[in-house]
This record gives sequence, structure tokens and C-alpha cells, in this order.
Amino acid sequence: MAKKINYVYFFGGKKADGKAEMKGLLGGKGANLAEMVNIGLPVPSGFTITTEVCTYYYQNNKKYPKELKNQLLKALGKVENHMGAGFGDSSNPLLLSVRSGARASMPGMMDTILNLGLNDETVKGLIDKTNNPRFAYDSYRRFVQMYGDVVLGLKPVDKHDEDPFEVILENKKKKNGFNLDTELSADHLKELVEEFKTAIKEKTGHDFPSDPMDQLWGAIGAVFGSWMNERAIVYRKLNSIPAEWGTAVNIQSMVFGNMGEDSGTGVAFTRDAATGENVFYGEYLFNAQGEDVVAGTRTPHPILELKKDNPKIYKQLDEIRSVLEKHYKEMMDIEFTIQQGKLWMLQCRVGKRTGFAAIKMAVDMVKEKLISREDAILRIEPNQLNQLLRPIFDPAEKSKAISNGKLLAKGLNAGPGAASGKVALSAQDAEEMAAKGDPVILVRIETSPEDIKGMNASEGILTARGGMTSHAALVARQMGKVCVAGCGALKINYQSRTIGVEGKNIVVKEGEYISIDGSTGEVIEGKLETKPSEVIQVLISKTLKPKHSSVYKTYESLMNWADDIRTMKVRTNADQPDQASNAISFGAEGIGLCRTEHMFFGGDRIQSVRKMIVSDTIEERKAALSELLPLQREDFEGIFTAMNGYPVTIRTLDPPLHEFLPHSNKEISELAGQLGISAEKLKAKIESMHEFNPMLGFRGCRLGVVYPEITEMQARAIIEAAVNVAKKGIKVKPEIMIPLVGHVKEFELQEDIVRRVAKEVMKEKGKKIDYLVGTMIELPRAALTADEIAERAEFFSFGTNDLTQTTFGLSRDDAGKFLPLYVQQEILPSDPFESIDQIGVGQLVEIGTAKGRSTRPKLKVGICGEHGGEPSSVEFCYRAGLDYVSCSPFRVPIARLAAARAVLNELKKDKSGSKKKKKKSSKKKK
Ligand code: PEP
Ligand code: MG
Repeated sequence: MAKKINYVYFFGGKKADGKAEMKGLLGGKGANLAEMVNIGLPVPSGFTITTEVCTYYYQNNKKYPKELKNQLLKALGKVENHMGAGFGDSSNPLLLSVRSGARASMPGMMDTILNLGLNDETVKGLIDKTNNPRFAYDSYRRFVQMYGDVVLGLKPVDKHDEDPFEVILENKKKKNGFNLDTELSADHLKELVEEFKTAIKEKTGHDFPSDPMDQLWGAIGAVFGSWMNERAIVYRKLNSIPAEWGTAVNIQSMVFGNMGEDSGTGVAFTRDAATGENVFYGEYLFNAQGEDVVAGTRTPHPILELKKDNPKIYKQLDEIRSVLEKHYKEMMDIEFTIQQGKLWMLQCRVGKRTGFAAIKMAVDMVKEKLISREDAILRIEPNQLNQLLRPIFDPAEKSKAISNGKLLAKGLNAGPGAASGKVALSAQDAEEMAAKGDPVILVRIETSPEDIKGMNASEGILTARGGMTSHAALVARQMGKVCVAGCGALKINYQSRTIGVEGKNIVVKEGEYISIDGSTGEVIEGKLETKPSEVIQVLISKTLKPKHSSVYKTYESLMNWADDIRTMKVRTNADQPDQASNAISFGAEGIGLCRTEHMFFGGDRIQSVRKMIVSDTIEERKAALSELLPLQREDFEGIFTAMNGYPVTIRTLDPPLHEFLPHSNKEISELAGQLGISAEKLKAKIESMHEFNPMLGFRGCRLGVVYPEITEMQARAIIEAAVNVAKKGIKVKPEIMIPLVGHVKEFELQEDIVRRVAKEVMKEKGKKIDYLVGTMIELPRAALTADEIAERAEFFSFGTNDLTQTTFGLSRDDAGKFLPLYVQQEILPSDPFESIDQIGVGQLVEIGTAKGRSTRPKLKVGICGEHGGEPSSVEFCYRAGLDYVSCSPFRVPIARLAAARAVLNELKKDKSGSKKKKKKSSKKKK
């Protein structure tokens, strides 16, 4: 005989048929209602029709399984018993609410009906029961209105149309000279019920059903129907909720908060959802219904006032708060109603919270022994740490600005945090404005290495072009600057010194204030206050003592727990001593990438770099390089000293040389003067260096192959610096890294130079140090021939910015123009320059690692592309067996947390895998 399927789950009294774990079948709301009953909380009785019925309904031409009717009637009978009232009973009517409830919360997307069961007869019973005709007719007219809209379809036809019920209501008030709904008497409301019904009949052709059972089936159909409404479909798409999940329908006896001054309703969080403080947080209103609290028509009172307004109920609620937290081990969001002095719980679910609160609550709950450290780590999304590490806007001030139409445009959220400042349209202006003490936002079409000083002087960087690994994005992150990149709607005009916005009649002039939110990509007109991060005040500016900052203490606990769990090291991408020390404060365990070219812009060294590039002879080039040698050595000494014994990976010169060349006529004549050549000659030289595809052109190790003297100079500067620092008793661990290797021979040529120079320097200086020579893997060919390369290379670092570029054949500088569309249209799940494409690019990382270790088993492997600080990519790196990830300093804490979560998530998978295996084998035995 076929097994009986339960389509209806009762809850009420002391025991429910369902429980919290049954969210798939009962939806979030239904499962939690059942759970609240099971833990002894007062819940109005009701029942849940399962999500399976929804699936059945859509698979069977909107029909229900035949067992449903009897199961429903049985459950309804139980509800009547529990509540001591009868559905459709004209002397003692039971009224019901009918609500949707999917597995994942979809707030406001589907339909709800309240006060179901009212008709011209039962309303009289309600009057007798409550002695309040006005209340009864108000409930009735609300029911007819809701049902007429949701079930019978009398609603505005388009966005210009008015709500037909509101039109009738307004007329009634106008006719009687009233302003407020509350001025309408019971008789007025009774008239409205009739007028509403007439309008429904006239406009939809439907009679309003007076039989409560018909009303109920109509409402159930409408809720299931709303699973496929446009709003719900769009929401599901945005939140990756599969349509097959379906919704449950919760049918529950109504309780009323508007039955007089001993009734009320409220919503609350068991802790403060914004700050995470362990305080009861919420609001309530007496003599009101739920919608009055949310609609903002009356101002609710803070929950703490209930303590004096109704101490008995407050005490009961406060106890429930603690029961819920102990039971769920989570911060819960609750809805309650007080009906004539009796408290009822209508809903509970895990509460939404800010990142800031999420971290504080998780850490506090460990200290309160509610959850384990591992739970805490798994509960916090690593990027939520940004809310502790970065300045943020006051959320209320920001949303006010946005609702006042100040949102100019949206770009990529390339460098999290909030910054407000005066617009500077060139790096030089940015420096000058900042020198006068003004906060500056540098706004450029795109940035290049020569903008570095201006970027450093700015609070934030905004570009119109470029993606998540554009120069602006990666340099900003490394500096810890707020950055919005690729904001294509901005029309930046360097001539008129203005910014226009596509589709808007707004012009922002240089010197005027704008604000950028690098966590959301929003660009806002005007000045917004920012709140500094306490963690930064403790760790970086050192203006706050750790013991005076509870936020810092929370951060520190979490980070210590993460470090105990993680096995993968976290390094940083840094090329200045201050960036290196910031990273150490954030917990970095070495430098994974020092881009030497970023050092070429400090002081006047760009002139020597330019001389080196335009040299015609090896002698000229060597002369220019000898000017650079002491400067680079000094930089490296600073970095080795700051890193105090941690490994430092220094990359030899990588970018296309033309990036360093002068562009304006003024700069060209200046350089020509210094070189003693004519401006024309220099111009011709610069033009001769033009490349059609510079990213695939003369760059990376190709520079060192053609001009070995560049590698020689850099190797010398590194080893001399290392020896000098070591002589002071500071440990040094240099790792020299060759970029953009595609063939082992390229590597060999460069390695030979490095080793020869190192030997010479150590001999000259009379001191030996250990160092490594390794390579970046950033071309598919390198990954595929990693076994050959690892025979020589002592370490690998995956340059996934270039590896993504070359694997996809996507320009990292230009893809920003169309990649957002690719993501929008779900051609790609996310921007591959932001989170690693695990299937494609990731496969090359796995192949490269495995092949490399096949010839050098102990090969050290890391990643230094921007993915090294992106949580899902960090977890991927752990699974791929990498030894470390390297990321910009401000992302180091994020990577530490992600690396710990990687370990825990893998353990979880192993456990559930072995459980499944056990189940399978025990089945087999049977
Ligand atoms: C990379 O390609 O991933 C990398 C780190 O190098 P760059 O971004 O400097 O090209
Ligand atoms: Mg690269």
C-alpha cells in the first residue's frame, strides 16, 4: 500500500507535527511556528500546507492532491478545539490568517490574507465576542479589501492607476468631512464593506464569497498562485532561490492587537541588529495591528518602555527572548501580539543584521558559551569584516541623501569603505588639494602608475573605466583606499574640469564634494560624514589603546580563533615599507608580491626610469640603471626591515615599458632636455614603442630577456639590501620572482642572472644569505608545463589577474565595459577578475600545482592575484593545496578568516560525506 503523505502539519497547544529542521517542507515560517510550539511558547494554533502541495499544484494544472481536503478539515477541527471557536460559527467565529512561507525568506513578495472567515453573520458573533462593533466592521472591511485585491484581482491596472479600494475609502471620508480612517464609525465601515463588495462584482464579475470554506480555498489558491507572480520570480532570480522549492501556506487563527488598550502588537530582535549589543531591541504599539507598526503611520515605542507600561508582558517577552536564544543559539527576529492581556507569538526567524553586529554577536555568543568558536567563524562572512576595518557612512544620512536624489551613479565596488571629499580630476591636483588639508576624491577616466602619488594623497578613487583588477582597483586596495571603479555613467571632462552623469542633468565641478561607497559602488553628490574604524585607530594610526576599544577586542578574539584553525598562510601584496607594516599589523606573514615598478614613482626616480627606457645603447641604459640601484636598494632595505624575518617575494620588472613614458608635450621636452636630445627624437622613440596589445607584448620576463641589465640591477639591489639588513642582525628571507614566464627557458635565463649577481654581491659583501628564485604562473602555458618549470623554480605564485586575462582572452583593462552585462545575464556567475573562475582558471591552478609538485614535491605554491583576498577564491586555494594566499594589506584579516572557514567547510563536507556513506552501506546491509 502506498505510504500516506502528510500534506498538512498542525501546530498549537504544546505539540506540533513539524519542527525547525523541516524548512524544506514547511517553509521557514511554518517550521519556526512549529518549533515555537514545541519549546512551549504561546502560538495561536494553526497548520501548514506543505511546499510539496505547491509543487503538485504546478505540476497538475493547478489542482491539489486529493488527500489534501480531508487532512485540512482534520487540522482545522483541531484548531477549532484548541482555540474554542468555530470556523463559520456565527456566535463564536474562528478567524484565520493565510500566509505564504517559503524555505528562504522572501519578504513581501507573496500574498497574505487576514481576518478570513468573516461574513455578514460571523461579524455579528465577533461583535458579541468583543463588544466592539467598530473593531468588528473594521476587521471585516479590511478582509474584503485584502481578499478583493489578492484573490479576486481588484487592483490598480498600472502604476498610474489608483487603488480602487482606497478611492472608495477616501470618498467616504471626504463625504463625511473626515481626515483619518479612525474617524469612521462602525456604520461607515459597514457601508464600506457593501461598497467594496459591489465594486468587486462590478469590476471583476466575481461575487464576494460568504462561505468561509470557499474563502479559505480561494485564499490558499491565491497564495500558491503568488509563488509565480512577477515580483516573486524576480526576487528568486536575484537571490538564487529555485522555483522547484515552492511555498508552503500557513493557516493560523487570528489574534488581534487592536482590541483595546490591553491589546497591542510589536516586532523585536533578541539583540540589537545594528550594533550587536546584547539588549532587547524592538518596538510596539498598544491597540494596533502589525501593519500599524511597520507602516509608520503611528510612532511605535521602544520595547524597553513596555517594562513600565505592562511589566507582566515585558517579563514574559524577555523570558521568551532568552528561551529563543538558548534554543536557536542565534539572534532572532520576532513578531508578537497581545490580545486582551494575553501574549501570542506570531513569528520567529533568524534576524538580519549588519556585518558589524554579526561579528559582535558571534563573538559574544562564544563567550556566553552559546556557540563554539567554529560556529562563530562559520557565521561570519569574511567581507563583513570590512565594516570593522573601514570607515563607514552613517546609514541614515546616506539613505536620506539617496532618497533626496543625490545618487549620481553606481560603479564597481572595488575598494570597500566610505569616503567623502572634494573632486580632483588629476593626480597633481589631488596632491595639491590634499596638501591644503582638504579631503580629496581623485576622479579619473582610468589611472596609471604615474597617478600613484595623487592616489595616495586622496581619501578615495573613482574611475569611469576599468574592472576589479584595473590599476585603480588593485592599487587602491593595496593602499587601503576606498575605490569605485568602472563607473561608466560618469562623463569626465578634463578640459572643462567637470563630471557629467549619463541620463541626468547634473554637473559636478572640480573642487565640489562627492561621496563614494566602495562597498556598494555608489557615487553620491555632496558631503557625507564618515565614521572611522576603531580597529584602524588601534592597529594603524595607533590613536586608540586596545583596552579602550571593545570593537577591537571583538576583532582580536575572532582573528585569534581563525588563526588557530587555519593552515594556509596569509601574505600581503605591498611595495612600500608603510604598506608592509600595515599588513603586519593586520596579521600578514610575509610579502607575497612586491611590484617593483610601483617603486619607480617615488621622488624623482621616474626620470631615471624614463632615461633607462629610452636609452639607445647598453651604456646609456646601464648609466640610468645605476641611478636607480641605490634607490631600489633603499626601498628593499625598508621592506626587509619592516618584515623582520618574514619572507618577502620581490618581482622583477613586469609592466609594458610605455606605461612609464611621458605623454604631455611639456613632460616630453623636459625629459628631452635632460637627455640632451631633441623633443622630436624623443617623440619618435616613444612612438616606436607603441604596441597594439601591450598586455601581450613587451612585458614581464621578456623585458629581462631583451635587457638583462635590468634584471641584473634589480637582483643586485635586492641582494645588497638583504645583506645590509642581515648585517644589522635582522633576519631576511628574499624570494626573487620572475613574472610572465611562458617557457622554462625564459625562467632559466633570468634565474642564471639572479644567481650570478647574488653570488657576486655576497662575495663583495662577505656575507651569505639564503634566498629563493621562483616564478609567477600567469600564462596557461606556464601552468601546463609547470613540471618543467618547477625543475628550476623554487616556488610558484599564481598571478591570477593575468591568468584570468589570458585564459579567457579577456583584457583586464577593457572587459569592464561588458563584463557587468555578462554577470547580469548570467553568462558568468560573477566577475572572474573578482572571484576566481574555479572551473576554468581554477583548473589551471590545480594542474599547475600538481605538475609543479610532480617534479619538486615540496614546491611552495601561493597566489598573488587579486583573488588572494576574495573569500570564495581563498577557500578554493585551500582546496587546491596552496601554501599561502597573498592580498592587499586591508584584506589580510578577511583572508585569515576565509582560510579558517575553508578548513571548517571542508571538515563539514567530509563529515556529511562519511554520514552519507554510512547510510548507504547500512542500507546495503539490510
Ligand atoms: C597577476 O597577474 O595576478 C599579478 C599579481 O600581477 P599583476 O597584477 O601585477 O599583473
Ligand atoms: Mg601579472
